[in-house]
Amino acid sequence: MRKIAFALFVVVCFTPLFGTTKETPDTWGKPTRTKAEFYAADDVPQSHIDLTKYWYEVASNEWGNFGPLEFWIVGSDVEAAKRLDNRYCKIRKQKDNRSNADNCRNRSHNFERYAKEGNAGLNTQRNEHSDWSGFIVTMASKNPGPQEDDYKSVTLHEYFHVYQHAHIFSKNREERESRTQRNPWWIEGGAEYMAQLLYSRQPDVRDDYLKDKMKQKLRAMNDLEDGESIRDIPYGRRGHIAYSLGAWFVAFVIDKSSEEAFTRGFFKDLNRLGFEGSFKKNFDGTSQEFLREFHEEFLKKPESEKLEILPVG
Ligand SMILES: [Zn+2]
Repeated sequence: MRKIAFALFVVVCFTPLFGTTKETPDTWGKPTRTKAEFYAADDVPQSHIDLTKYWYEVASNEWGNFGPLEFWIVGSDVEAAKRLDNRYCKIRKQKDNRSNADNCRNRSHNFERYAKEGNAGLNTQRNEHSDWSGFIVTMASKNPGPQEDDYKSVTLHEYFHVYQHAHIFSKNREERESRTQRNPWWIEGGAEYMAQLLYSRQPDVRDDYLKDKMKQKLRAMNDLEDGESIRDIPYGRRGHIAYSLGAWFVAFVIDKSSEEAFTRGFFKDLNRLGFEGSFKKNFDGTSQEFLREFHEEFLKKPESEKLEILPVG
């Protein structure tokens, strides 16, 4: 759920001697048969690992299997989380010789913090300072915990972020950010809506699940200021408004185009055409026009009319 900034490493530049390095082909964005790797703290029960694997399979069967992807599952024992941190930094070094062990150990959002606070997050590693590109998802044992239904949709949410980032090839931070958008409305709204939509379609999920979840998200309208656009809300204290109304914005875009246009078309064209180019091509209007109509017309409709745009369960 939480966005983790791309890790920036201070590295000493060096020129490799000719003939001593082997170029590995860059397969970023290509669906792969290689499954995600799972790592867990020693207080995490096997059932928790299996649950995470199950929902990863649901997500990757739906949206395609992308990688390299690692899941790191943290329990509630802080000492076990510290041991997992050590293991994590060893793996980073194994996968990328340029990884800095001190930076790794001192990273602000380490597993110890996840053990204390819970939550979930994706760290996309793709930058000019690293030889290794990949996705690192962290899942914890609270907020939400594995006994909660939200844990399942959160796993789908994190995986949709993998799907989003797999469609942006650049290693340059600004180029990546221009395609994801700096503020959370689009990328978090997309992950949240697609996760809830996919979850609502699973066997044994009640028919009104999606409506109820989306109804709850409408409460964020009370926190939106007059004339304020969700596009301008940054991560942080008020970020939840962009997550919730961003999910509604994506439902609105899909209603005016199609699910296929959002999940396939937009991401297929995103790298080549950029955010606005792909938006225009696939949804037949500018993001500005869609946002205007969303705020000035759609959000002003009665709740029952808003709910009509959701697919029926
Ligand atoms: Zn997220």
